[in-house]
Amino acid sequence: MKLQTHLIATSLLFMGLYPHYRHMALLVFVGGFFIDMDHYFYYIMKTKDLNLKKAYHFCENKTYSDVFCIFHHFEFIAILFLIGFFSSYVMLVSIGASVHFAMDIIHIAVSRRISREISDMSWIARLVKKIKS
Ligand SMILES: [Zn+2]
Repeated sequence: MKLQTHLIATSLLFMGLYPHYRHMALLVFVGGFFIDMDHYFYYIMKTKDLNLKKAYHFCENKTYSDVFCIFHHFEFIAILFLIGFFSSYVMLVSIGASVHFAMDIIHIAVSRRISREISDMSWIARLVKKIKS
């Protein structure tokens, strides 16, 4: 999904949470927008290049099965939520991350065959797949 779409959705989420959380609501941007930094980390790992623009194009049409973006997994979101029960700061990050991840899943469901990628959205399923192969 495009960064701009995540930025708009996260901004709307921020505006919804701002009356209650004030400046703390900015934390939804960590989960809702900056979570996509894992695509950049993946690009750096694969190419040893730091060019952000090239990284954007590199990841643009990749599927979950093509890349390993550490934050884009069910387990990561679940861990964030669990920690969020003890910290409202982390809960705000996890709310942003959940909306981001849900939007990515919906985008995949309407644009590609999600059945091919759903197992690659889980660290455990990826590990089991790797062990079996
Ligand atoms: Zn994403």
